[in-house]
Amino acid sequence: MYEYVGNLHIHSVYSDGTGTVAEIAKKAQRAGLDFVVITDHENMRGFKKGEEGYYNKVLVLIGMEINDTCCHYLALNIKEEIENNTLNPQQVIDQVNEQGGIGIIAHPFEKGSPFYARGIAFPWNQWQVKGFQGIEIWNFCSGWKDNLESRLKAIFLLFWPRFCITGPDKEALKKLDFLQGQGEKVAAFGGSDAHNIRFRLGFIPVMVGSYLKTFRSVNMHILLKEKLTGDYKKDKVKIYEALRQGRSWVADDYRRNSRGFSFNLKYEDRTWTMGDEVEYREGMWIEVFTPHKSRVRLIHNGQRVAVSQGRKHVFKSIEKGVYRIEADYMILGCYRPWIYSNSIFLV
Ligand SMILES: [Zn+2]
Ligand SMILES: [Zn+2]
Repeated sequence: MYEYVGNLHIHSVYSDGTGTVAEIAKKAQRAGLDFVVITDHENMRGFKKGEEGYYNKVLVLIGMEINDTCCHYLALNIKEEIENNTLNPQQVIDQVNEQGGIGIIAHPFEKGSPFYARGIAFPWNQWQVKGFQGIEIWNFCSGWKDNLESRLKAIFLLFWPRFCITGPDKEALKKLDFLQGQGEKVAAFGGSDAHNIRFRLGFIPVMVGSYLKTFRSVNMHILLKEKLTGDYKKDKVKIYEALRQGRSWVADDYRRNSRGFSFNLKYEDRTWTMGDEVEYREGMWIEVFTPHKSRVRLIHNGQRVAVSQGRKHVFKSIEKGVYRIEADYMILGCYRPWIYSNSIFLV
């Protein structure tokens, strides 16, 4: 398998971000990414202008973010813009599916803060919907907003936004586990929601959600069976296929890059990985490798069933059900949230 790293959920000058598509691609290359997915609010102007494609080594893909006052929905791999329908998000989901797209419920439990934009938040509040492909469990921008709990903390986090990295949204993870427990093949996604907003606090220039910093933080790592070729249309198909299947993990790569992580299910000489559905056999085991020393939790049907420390981790006594991995790295004697894998389904 070949690993590629990308950043999802980015806003450009075509909505409320401050960078052009070319500038975003440049920052992505500096951050060491292989691909990005730009999702501007309510439009795909970049796609319509033919701005999707390779910029040097970075593949820029363009989707969109649908809906305004709540129920934000990321639509990837679509060709036609889809209109907002906040009152009936099921229609939005269906329209994305009709185009063969990938739909992700964005920042579903965003809370906001009274110290930022008058407490405005954009949660998802209609869970009777069906047919979406993913949930954004970790959104850098929402995590930052939700952590502005006091005026003092708000000022502190303006200058040191990394301190708001407290891991994925716990409620979103719970929802993911619940849906997967019901037999739904919903995948976990992470996004930066980068806007790269510049403003002045008195005389001091401030930047919120800079492209460069967020592109080094909450990323999506995907696994492909074949290498990318440099042909934009072919590579686009491969990247979206891996994202749709959940052959991927979400990680905060800022302090410890998660390139090289693996989470495999084994039986005799056979191996399966994230996103796979596998028929259960007695004697199966799970192998996890983390590229740095870490604390790994094995999650089975939403419950933590084992913990292991180090770089190589082996888990035996595997049963039927849904397995995923959470890993923390250690820095200055403290564990910090790091890798959240997609699931392996044992049926
Ligand atoms: Zn949003
Ligand atoms: Zn957004």
